[in-house]
Amino acid sequence: MDTTEAFVGLECLDCGETFDAETATHRCPDCGGILDPTYDYDAVELDRDTLAERPFETMWRYEELLPFTRDAAVTMDEGATQLVECPALADELGVGRVLLKDEGRNPTGTFKDRGQTVAVTAAAQHEAEDVALASAGNAGQAASAYAARAGLDSHVFLPSRAGFTNKAMVNVHGGDMTVVGGRIGDAGAAYDDAMADNDDWYSLQTFQTPYRHEGKKTMLYEIVEQEDWTVPDAVVYPTGGGVGLVGMHKGAKELRDLGLTDELPAMYAAQSAGCAPIVDAFERGLDRHEPTETPDTICGGIEIPDPGASPLILDALRESGGGAVATDDSEILESAIAVAQNEGLEMGATCAAAASGAWELSERGEFDEDDTVVLLNTGAGNKDDDILRSHLMGQGV
Ligand SMILES: *Cc1c(COP(=O)(O)O)cnc(C)c1O
Ligand SMILES: [Zn+2]
Repeated sequence: MDTTEAFVGLECLDCGETFDAETATHRCPDCGGILDPTYDYDAVELDRDTLAERPFETMWRYEELLPFTRDAAVTMDEGATQLVECPALADELGVGRVLLKDEGRNPTGTFKDRGQTVAVTAAAQHEAEDVALASAGNAGQAASAYAARAGLDSHVFLPSRAGFTNKAMVNVHGGDMTVVGGRIGDAGAAYDDAMADNDDWYSLQTFQTPYRHEGKKTMLYEIVEQEDWTVPDAVVYPTGGGVGLVGMHKGAKELRDLGLTDELPAMYAAQSAGCAPIVDAFERGLDRHEPTETPDTICGGIEIPDPGASPLILDALRESGGGAVATDDSEILESAIAVAQNEGLEMGATCAAAASGAWELSERGEFDEDDTVVLLNTGAGNKDDDILRSHLMGQGV
């Protein structure tokens, strides 16, 4: 495999065993735990000046801290997204600065591309011919795009309530799409059945593959570098399965351990009150979530009632000194519209949970007046144009 020099292999986050990435591909062969790419950090030669010399044009500029080489990557130059100053929001929240990491500017319009570029590269390295996943929508769209680029067949299982853009674009990329009545859990069950019948399909599923959180960690590298190596006080993240949050927390620790920074940003999980298992577990001091019985939110990307990686998410929140916050769908949609009208920036419904959550956190006095708060705008607002527009219609606009 075309792995990078410092990449050692995959470590199980449950039993601690380490495996060769040639042979271990998904969950821990011993205990079924989540596998995490590990590196020999002494072999990573990366300093601020070296990075400054590289063009800011793709997340693969952090190649030394990724498992596969940039040459081997199935990439469309994803990442390297803008970090946009939001002065009106900063005023509103009573903090020093609000910065919006605009992940809508990715090839398929969301940060899911960062996960799929690495996961599909792994699939290609393992000589898979078929890749498969269940998704609320955006991950499926991204997977079908990267599979197309790699010349692989993709099998995407989506719930009927996935957005039209997602479904249409899976078709456009030539993916084999199965739309399942119901919600993400129903799509997941159909995916499980299909995987049982097709043992050569390579899974691109959240935390089944060790490589999606690995790709998403680059968001944190970029934020810190874009801020000239100053670590922001808080990062607010619309949290579903927690792939990005766990990845960014890992990235923050790596930069600190490499001596490139000396702090961790406080990570905050923002959820919709209609499906908030992480917020609930955080507030009750639990180490793992209890599944939400009847999830109900318009924010499809974060309607994840049973996030299997909750122990990792909760660890990240606690270790970084952050927290968790839930707001109602109506507040979330109001936030998307407020940001669009006051900053011009387009946040999707799911993404706006971060803005709405930050509002709520500021009201609780969680931030200081000189804090820098980063909001993850995980995807393009116009993927949810229908939802945002109909919210206005509900107000008679
Ligand atoms: C998938 C998704 C999320 C949630 O991501 P996780 O890393 O699984 O928590 C948030 N926003 C958007 C737009 C998404 O597509
Ligand atoms: Zn294990």
